[in-house]
Amino acid sequence: ISSSSAEERTINASQMKVSDTDVAIDVVGMHKWYGDFHVLRDIDLKVMRGERIVVAGPSGSGKSTLIRCMNRLEEHQQGQIIVNGTELTADLKRIDEVRREVGMVFQHFNLFPHLTILQNLTLAPIWVRGTPQAEAEATAMHYLERVKIPEQANKFPGQLSGGQQQRVAIARSLCMQPKIMLFDEPTSALDPEMVKEVLEVMISLAEEGMTMICVTHEMGFARQVANRVIFMDQGQIIEQNDPENFFSNPQHERTQLFLSQIL
Ligand code: ADP
Ligand code: MG
Repeated sequence: ISSSSAEERTINASQMKVSDTDVAIDVVGMHKWYGDFHVLRDIDLKVMRGERIVVAGPSGSGKSTLIRCMNRLEEHQQGQIIVNGTELTADLKRIDEVRREVGMVFQHFNLFPHLTILQNLTLAPIWVRGTPQAEAEATAMHYLERVKIPEQANKFPGQLSGGQQQRVAIARSLCMQPKIMLFDEPTSALDPEMVKEVLEVMISLAEEGMTMICVTHEMGFARQVANRVIFMDQGQIIEQNDPENFFSNPQHERTQLFLSQIL
């Protein structure tokens, strides 16, 4: 086989992926370095629409870096990341396109402290999307009701509990009507009694068919909601399975060790 025909086949294969509307995110042979540090190694991950994926693994294994690469908060150096058919490259227009469709919720809620809850929710729709203020506010109230805190609309983030602030952060993402939601340990900074109210919102999103990738240590949530659990260690995906088999029959020694420590 000549190298040119091999190249042709690669191009055809990637074009097929791009046109495949059932694929939400396709990560192919992806590597990332922080300076000399090889943080993600040969990641292959195809996320279908409507999938609910939990990413687990020890601290430092690259979970945050992986999902941050999916909306270009971090840049990968090798391989491909294709989100809703758009390949992430240095092209700012593409990055913009992808970020329109991908919402992200962080461990620390990242709300603007000097803006009211309502203003936090309408800021991006008004200034990034050009949505008229009245319409943006109506949408914001809709999602505040959805996360069960419409009565907090005119307060400031500092006046809310951690669980309420995280629900605001989720509502803020939803105001941009994303097709995919990425969660990076959304309950890790919360007091235990507030974890449930945030997980309940995430569960209801899952039930409505949202494509979700959640980095979390909440294994009850994984069992209940995920269709697939991905286990990372030292920058690699070393095991993945449906939750039932992931928990009852972990294959890899490092997965077994991890589960024995957290369950
Ligand atoms: P996890 O989310 O699984 O805890 P991270 O993706 O945050 O893992 O980090 C993976 C590894 O990369 C860790 O060793 C971390 O120290 C390192 N790292 C994370 N962010 C940076 C950065 N901005 N610069 C250099 N190293 C980083
Ligand atoms: Mg992390």
